Amino acid sequence: MSTRRNARAGVEDRWHRPARKNELVHYPADAGPGDAIWCMDPKHGQVGSLVCTGRHGHGQRWQARWVAEGQERSKSFAKKADADRHLRCVVADVETGTYADPLRTAVTFGTVAESWLRTKAASNRAPKTIAGYRGLLDVVILPKWQDERLRDITHERLQNWISWLATDPAARKHKKKDNEAVGLSPARVIQTHQVLSQVLSYARRAKYVATNAADDIELPSKPQSKDLALTHDQVHRLAEETAEAELAVRHRADTAPVKISPAALGTMVRFLAYTGLRFGECVALRVGDVDVAKRRVLVEKSITQVRGQGRLEGGTKTHQRRSVPILTTALANELKNVTRDRNAAEFLFPGPDGEAMSVGWFRVRFDRATAALGLTGVTPNTLRHTAGSLAISEVGSVVVASKLLGHRNVSTTVNVYSHMLDGDWEKLSAAMDSAAIKVATAGQSPERF
Ligand SMILES: [Zn+2]
Repeated sequence: MSTRRNARAGVEDRWHRPARKNELVHYPADAGPGDAIWCMDPKHGQVGSLVCTGRHGHGQRWQARWVAEGQERSKSFAKKADADRHLRCVVADVETGTYADPLRTAVTFGTVAESWLRTKAASNRAPKTIAGYRGLLDVVILPKWQDERLRDITHERLQNWISWLATDPAARKHKKKDNEAVGLSPARVIQTHQVLSQVLSYARRAKYVATNAADDIELPSKPQSKDLALTHDQVHRLAEETAEAELAVRHRADTAPVKISPAALGTMVRFLAYTGLRFGECVALRVGDVDVAKRRVLVEKSITQVRGQGRLEGGTKTHQRRSVPILTTALANELKNVTRDRNAAEFLFPGPDGEAMSVGWFRVRFDRATAALGLTGVTPNTLRHTAGSLAISEVGSVVVASKLLGHRNVSTTVNVYSHMLDGDWEKLSAAMDSAAIKVATAGQSPERF
């Protein structure tokens, strides 16, 4: 197989051929139409030794030809040395498996991106995730890269573009209200890079390109969110303020009877902060999912809003079903009130119309409350972060926090809360100390393990 491939690879002179046996070749001055003639250009070789082909003087003279993936390929060069070098490279690439077919690398980014997105949509990704990819492609990535050939997308160009996104105000579609001269947020830039990298990685697996040009791109760093966990006291006041905000907003605008009471909205804030549920998981809960007697909540669904598709109900982010404890007696009592005499199929914390609550509706109240308390940078996700932080600081166990938050891997929890784990060594050291002292005072050697 490889002998055949090598046999068909080589560098060819497109302008000349050797004379055939007994062939009559004329000097140009003597030749009639259709006669074979000698090349008279001393720059091409020894005069009178090369027969001109029909292509003499047209296009590039030297053609490298090779076979890869069963297809014959060629590329022409002005200099023989360049053609030879190119051929050596592609043959080496074919043999080491890093060969990328030039016809395939001529495929555009846009084509591959669509194909990548179709595989994602077919692989049971959450609708919100797919919509997120679609949005990043349409708004940020495709306007720049759609018609670019894969082979022209270099690491350097990607790096320059990513740096531009992060720093140049022109990269923003909407101007910032405070006129701050910055590019996209670090989080948005990081997401953009992730999508780019996934598309190019798909292109590599599909053998459109040999390497992923988005590997090892320098990214802006995300601001640390470690200070954004609330204290018990802050949670309490935020819950009260959110209930207050609901009253204030409602007096102004809403006239129809509302299916959720201000008190229930306050309960929802406390519930989010102590269970650590994702917002989408919380609004998907039904009354029947709460077992006040056993103090457990069953989390198996999530509702997300997808632009253009309305609210979609699906599995949780990690497709897990989990039973979450109602940790405090006060919260258990509040939930008893919220669920009393209600149908098991109703939403636990419904929106004003009894349907799933939208994050926008919640944010109007919640944001008023955080503003009233002077809390900056606090979002519904801060409540989830608070639950994780409290679990770690009070129980000192990452595993417990991980279970509570429904992380698929404990490593995720460790990454998010690593700054809180330093104290663990002190606890461990104290425990080891006291164990060692116990052994020493008992006057016996420790058991081997
Ligand atoms: Zn010639």
